[in-house]
Amino acid sequence: MNRAAAVFLSHGSPITALEDDAYTAVVRGLARHRPAAVLILSAHWTTSGFAGVTAAGQHRLIYDFGGFPEELYHLTYPARGDPELAGRAAALIGAAGIPARLDGLRGLDHGAWIPMRIAWPDAGVPVVQVSLPAEAAPETLVRLGRALAPLREQGVLLLGSGGLVHNLYLVNLADKDRPVDPWAREFDAWVAERLERFDLPELMSYRDQAPAPAMAVPTTEHFAPLFVVLGAAFPGERVQTLFEGFHYGNLGMRSFQLQPAAHPKSDKERTA
Ligand code: ZN
Repeated sequence: MNRAAAVFLSHGSPITALEDDAYTAVVRGLARHRPAAVLILSAHWTTSGFAGVTAAGQHRLIYDFGGFPEELYHLTYPARGDPELAGRAAALIGAAGIPARLDGLRGLDHGAWIPMRIAWPDAGVPVVQVSLPAEAAPETLVRLGRALAPLREQGVLLLGSGGLVHNLYLVNLADKDRPVDPWAREFDAWVAERLERFDLPELMSYRDQAPAPAMAVPTTEHFAPLFVVLGAAFPGERVQTLFEGFHYGNLGMRSFQLQPAAHPKSDKERTA
């Protein structure tokens, strides 16, 4: 079986569920991967002291956002779970020293179901969500990614859904195409440079070294999935940018996937 991708998506505003633009085209493009299943970690499910793993065979959706158009709250998505995969994921996480708990009641939050619904609208790909350890240090998140990496060899696409620059106090949801704030651009550029050369140690020290970390990452949950995805890298893999840019002046939408460095065009060639 081919190794499945590991992808970091900046999921942006919930309104992306209703949009058709350059960003949603990238998310739709994930469908080319045809994974056996998707294992997703979203900024919108964090737990303390253990990692939750959704174990339901059929997911309900969680509409965990407020103040958006009514239409968003009526969107549906018949997402299938994969209890067997949930068990495998929980075992791997537990073996890495992070207590894992299967959760048969938890549904998919909007950071999970909105990208899934855009990429696989027919819900033909089963999905399991794993919670992020709350306020975890980058080291712990990288360890979680390493624990989950073997699933990629079993055809499971690992999807980290967060946001590269995410500050809800400074975002201006009235204007999606507003000029980009310099502090947001500088933080994004700093991260992009280190992603390009896969400098994981420097990325892990972003709090001390990156420009304006307190503005770009005021709370860690949207940045955290990036470290899980990087932790799931296999030797020789590099970061391929899927999307870069901003919405609403400072909501960073940078998204990327891991792929073998030796064949930088192989994915494109296969789908050409
Ligand atoms: Zn979010």
